[in-house]
Amino acid sequence: MSKKAANTATGAGASRREKRRQKRVKVCHCCGGEFMFCWQCRCGFAICQACMYENQWGMTCNGITWDCPDCGQQNGYGNQ
Ligand SMILES: [Zn+2]
Ligand SMILES: [Zn+2]
Repeated sequence: MSKKAANTATGAGASRREKRRQKRVKVCHCCGGEFMFCWQCRCGFAICQACMYENQWGMTCNGITWDCPDCGQQNGYGNQ
């Protein structure tokens, strides 16, 4: 019996291309500021971390999910 030698083509052509990063900012619906990161609801509502922190008492009761003040949906903190 003869084993077939598999020819593996090694084409490692890693071309680094600098991507033009678009300014991706989110607008907090609470304070109106622009942030790189906002907690977002499926309905489009967004809140920045500072506002979330300030309103945490009214938006979450367990620290795991937060209730969207717009639509009332529950969103997870770790689900971004
Ligand atoms: Zn805010
Ligand atoms: Zn919502």
